[in-house]
Amino acid sequence: MASEAAAFQFLSIAAHRSIQKVHQSLTTKLVTRRRKLSQVRMLLQQHAIVPARKDNTATLATLPLGTRLLTHETESSPDVSTTASSDDLLPVDLPDQVYVKLSAIEAGWIHLPEREFIDPHRSEAVHRCLSLAFIIQHPSTNTKVVYDLGLRKDISNYPAKIARYLQDGSRTVEIPTDVGESLKAGGISPSEVDFVILSLLHYDHTGNPDLFPNSRFIIGPGSLDLLAANAAGDPEDTWFLPTLLPSDTSRITEFPDPHSKDSPWRPLARFPFALDLFSDGSFYIINAPGHVEGHINGLARIGPDRWVLLGSDSCHFSSLLDGSCCIAQFSRPDGSMRSVHVDDDAAARHIQHMRETRDMAGGRVEVVLAHDLERCSKNRDRFLPGRF
Ligand SMILES: [Zn+2]
Repeated sequence: MASEAAAFQFLSIAAHRSIQKVHQSLTTKLVTRRRKLSQVRMLLQQHAIVPARKDNTATLATLPLGTRLLTHETESSPDVSTTASSDDLLPVDLPDQVYVKLSAIEAGWIHLPEREFIDPHRSEAVHRCLSLAFIIQHPSTNTKVVYDLGLRKDISNYPAKIARYLQDGSRTVEIPTDVGESLKAGGISPSEVDFVILSLLHYDHTGNPDLFPNSRFIIGPGSLDLLAANAAGDPEDTWFLPTLLPSDTSRITEFPDPHSKDSPWRPLARFPFALDLFSDGSFYIINAPGHVEGHINGLARIGPDRWVLLGSDSCHFSSLLDGSCCIAQFSRPDGSMRSVHVDDDAAARHIQHMRETRDMAGGRVEVVLAHDLERCSKNRDRFLPGRF
């Protein structure tokens, strides 16, 4: 029996290695074929044999800032499966392609217990993670966009429930440097920032918006309803500050519901809904449902065949992205067993879209999560004034 088991194990390992070899070979062929196709398409475009592809998406320039609805294209969004083949995953570079400059910004540290995020987990393991913000600089328009604001220094000015949560040990934080100080240390004043994108409205991403008096705030679909619903509830029992955003609503843009009539969102890579922010393919907003209402990601084009997906809180640990762990369920104070997400199925589906985009892109797309400590600590040169 022992020799049969050993033989079976040997055959299993051999079969697994054989499958891995075939997979590697196919992946290499796929990437080579895709690059050749991109080069051919660019040559055809340069010689005006085929028109340059233009994404029919709403852009920063066309956004009616301060309103909640965009009226733009009328075409309905096609199914992503019909538009994002592995050969045509991402828009090809145009001859005059614009690339954004992307830098990470330190904006506080937060302690995340494994048991609340991943399964399997080590029950006592707690990770000290950065709460990352980013600055996106668009060279041709000299526009500065800050993506997320991390943690605020004056935590007593969070809603009472959050302030207690951050002080009683269940989710401790450290903010040696907030986003404003990190920007200044990198040579940029917060007053120079044109736009602030809040990828979600949780306290560890919204910092202190008052530090950005000249910025317009861009938020994901459903964010204003989320704030309004919480403002109407018990002020002692809310995670969201009703006065979080500027009282001047002309400084706020909320993207429309991707499922609404006349939605300007379009498929991109493996994602069903994306918006081209500058109308030149240099930075896309990705709808990222599941974690909380209004959650979005960013996809920055930082160089030829170089993209960075800002995954925010779509998942908190890279083991979820790799598929080696599942979303954890844990006991809440009310006795219920839930995850950190409002919709686990949607969250898992979006993580799958992130994984597929990364893997199908063959090394062209790097995924950076908001609390991805390991990746950040190895890459300090990516923090402002450095860049990706
Ligand atoms: Zn977070």
